[in-house]
Amino acid sequence: MSESVILVTGGSGLVGEAVKWVIENESNPRYGKKEGEKWVFLSSKDGDLRKEADVKAIFEKYKPTHVIHLAAMVGGLFKNMKYKLDFLRENMMMNENILWQSKEFNVKKVVSCLSTCIFPDKTTYPIDETMVHDGPPHDSNFGYAYGKRMIDVYNHAYNEQFGCHFTSVIPTNVFGPHDNYELEGSHVLPGLTHKCYLAKKNNTPFVVWGSGKPLRQFIYSRDLAKLFIWVLREYEEIDPIILSVGEEDEVSIKDVADGIVKAMDFKGEYAFDSTKADGQYKKTANNHKLMKYIPDFEFTPFDVAIKESVEWFEQNYDTLRK
Ligand code: NDP
Repeated sequence: MSESVILVTGGSGLVGEAVKWVIENESNPRYGKKEGEKWVFLSSKDGDLRKEADVKAIFEKYKPTHVIHLAAMVGGLFKNMKYKLDFLRENMMMNENILWQSKEFNVKKVVSCLSTCIFPDKTTYPIDETMVHDGPPHDSNFGYAYGKRMIDVYNHAYNEQFGCHFTSVIPTNVFGPHDNYELEGSHVLPGLTHKCYLAKKNNTPFVVWGSGKPLRQFIYSRDLAKLFIWVLREYEEIDPIILSVGEEDEVSIKDVADGIVKAMDFKGEYAFDSTKADGQYKKTANNHKLMKYIPDFEFTPFDVAIKESVEWFEQNYDTLRK
């Protein structure tokens, strides 16, 4: 049997590290490494994906048969509001290069990554996969959102003109080991984890930006990684698929902060700063399509996943991204 070479861009990030972990550790053969598969995990040290020549050289070196395209400029609300052009331009450049070289090298399947925060701002809930292009995204992140939406446009154009099997997935908020814990620029859960850690260490109040009321669905990176592997192996559509816990598992930012306080055993003062922006109040997505395909999938309970993530953070504080 000829070998499959699966190239994972963004292999050193939150989601990429989780895919690596699942491939190396998972005993269920549906998600773990299969015989005849070679997995290659890239970081920016292997090349700058914004540069066509670097991407071409990577494809020449590894000759991938499959690609999981995770690399992106990624960030939380405050970074998105500040760098709209960078989010649009850098992500468009990376996607352009990866998809074009995948076509040039006859890659059998590409799975790229969208996000639930690219959906229209004014919409009805719950959101589903058919609504990606229905109206403008929230103003706070339109650069990132339009850049990501174009992946779906590309996937259909590549399929219709060249018959390529390029598809995409739409995760909700991801968290887990190897997250970005910068105090500014990170997503809410890792940002709050870091803030709470410092409050505990320095004996200062733990202040959460915003009202704590917005609602979000979170997916543990290792659950998402399993679903990515399932999509690569078993999902045949070009249209995207939402990878999320169900609507009933939506939590408030306050629930998240409470979970971190508990996992970290923080006993100090804890408050919300409502003068700071909340972003979209909610963006509830339904996972009916996913559950139709894979009804027996088991998500890790939120408190277990937070505990594992906080433990990883505490054990790796000296070397992690912060
Ligand atoms: P991270 O920020 O953790 O990782 C980003 C990855 O992309 C890193 O491996 C980084 O390499 C690589 N990268 C960034 N810029 C370049 C570049 N110019 N050239 C080569 N590699 C580059 O991101 P996540 O793991 O959180 O995100 C993965 C995907 O999931 C993204 O497409 C994101 O949009 C999507 N997503 C993420 C969500 C989340 O909550 N985190 C939610 C929904 C979707 P290096 O380590 O060397 O810098």
